[in-house]
Amino acid sequence: MIVGIDLGTTNSLVSAWIDGAPRLIPNALGAMLTPSCVGIDQDGSVLVGEAARERLQTHPGHTASLFKRYMGSARTVRLGDRDYRAEELSALVLRSLKADAEAALGMPVTEAIITVPAYFSDAQRKATRIAGELAGLRVERLLNEPTAAALAYGLHDAQGETQFLVFDLGGGTFDVSILEMFDGVMEVRASAGDNMLGGEDFVTLIAELAFQNGIPEAARADAVFMQRLVARAEKAKRELGTQARAAFDISWGAGNARVELDPDTFEKLSQPLLTRLWRPIERALRDARIRAADLDNVVLAGGATRMPMIRSLVTRMFGRFPAMGQNPDEVVALGAAVQAGLKMKDKALDEMVMTDVCPYTLGTAISRRIEGGTRTDGLYSPIIQRNTVVPVSRVQRYVPLDPGQSSIRIDVYQGESRLVRDNILLGEVTASLTPGPGHGEGVDVRFTYDVNGLLEVEVTVVATSETRR
Ligand code: AMP
Repeated sequence: MIVGIDLGTTNSLVSAWIDGAPRLIPNALGAMLTPSCVGIDQDGSVLVGEAARERLQTHPGHTASLFKRYMGSARTVRLGDRDYRAEELSALVLRSLKADAEAALGMPVTEAIITVPAYFSDAQRKATRIAGELAGLRVERLLNEPTAAALAYGLHDAQGETQFLVFDLGGGTFDVSILEMFDGVMEVRASAGDNMLGGEDFVTLIAELAFQNGIPEAARADAVFMQRLVARAEKAKRELGTQARAAFDISWGAGNARVELDPDTFEKLSQPLLTRLWRPIERALRDARIRAADLDNVVLAGGATRMPMIRSLVTRMFGRFPAMGQNPDEVVALGAAVQAGLKMKDKALDEMVMTDVCPYTLGTAISRRIEGGTRTDGLYSPIIQRNTVVPVSRVQRYVPLDPGQSSIRIDVYQGESRLVRDNILLGEVTASLTPGPGHGEGVDVRFTYDVNGLLEVEVTVVATSETRR
């Protein structure tokens, strides 16, 4: 059995394709959403989900959350007497979801489709795959979250050619993808996003009001107080979705604050965040060469799209109501189950083919010698262009600048700038060159980017056919 897993910033869900339909699997507490939180208790045992989330306030030094933001980075979180990387913490969440799925399905679960933001870099995707392996799961596929959302809405059943946009505002990331369906083939035409923008930022805005209304700045260093404040602000944010007013009192030492908000004030306060939603949308539309008016559908995903101000903003942006039939915090997991069904070759899904794109340009650093002998270093030489349909494999030849050069170093970058210093360094491969015949032929650099968004680099010395990875 292959399960689908939405490994979210704030919450994670597990799903499966059962009896011809995607279904969510409840955790041991009967809930569909498992908080992406990990804690260590006094006797060293690991707590995951709601039990850990509840201790965020009381045991902040022994509890971790929001670690998806640090996937693929070297950053660690100290829990008790050990440092954990984000993929280790994610692995603990995955292990817990795996156990829930095994209990509910009554069979071992060893394979999973895990969703990732379309905007996730190569390093972040690799870290996600490692997290799966650490949890004892073979990661069948890393599926882009917006693509999963589209699958959950059954957009693959649409007739003829359709184009739609997926607007996914989760706890910590914002993703926009433009997808196209034609002849049973679904293709991500473009994706853009901001992986430092999400529902939590709206909570922070409300929490900040407490400092403006009487809580001293020193309270910021008190982790237990901050967790309490964030929980109150989160509750207020949700209340503003259904009520004309939300208020709470909070105190720290001798400082007291009353925070009171109505939806209009909250929307005004949120303007800087709302403005940031525009840029990825404009970029995705531009990259896909599609006008907003030509979209057949707009799909909402991510818990933060429950906020009425987000829904009305989307309606104003696109001049139409978005698709809202499903719970936005469940669509990605449901879509992962649809993909699991596809993987298991369920007949109901036989006809559908999915393709994706590489969300950023991948290339190498080069130097150039212009007439007169002046050398310019640090130029970017793209090999795979952003939004190329994947899987893709491209080769580019590089020749040495100096006749006596004994090696050639290929620095691999991701990014859109003409200068590599503004892009992200992914790694390097060095190949030896033997001066003499064939030296000037240089190397062939092959970039292979697979459906999971993982990059493999292969450097072949043309004269000797010697290959390095
Ligand atoms: P996700 O990453 O999709 O689970 O989204 C989590 C985000 O959705 C968090 O920032 C939550 O605060 C937010 N969220 C969930 N439910 C609501 C709600 N009813 N109103 C406002 N925001 C919500």
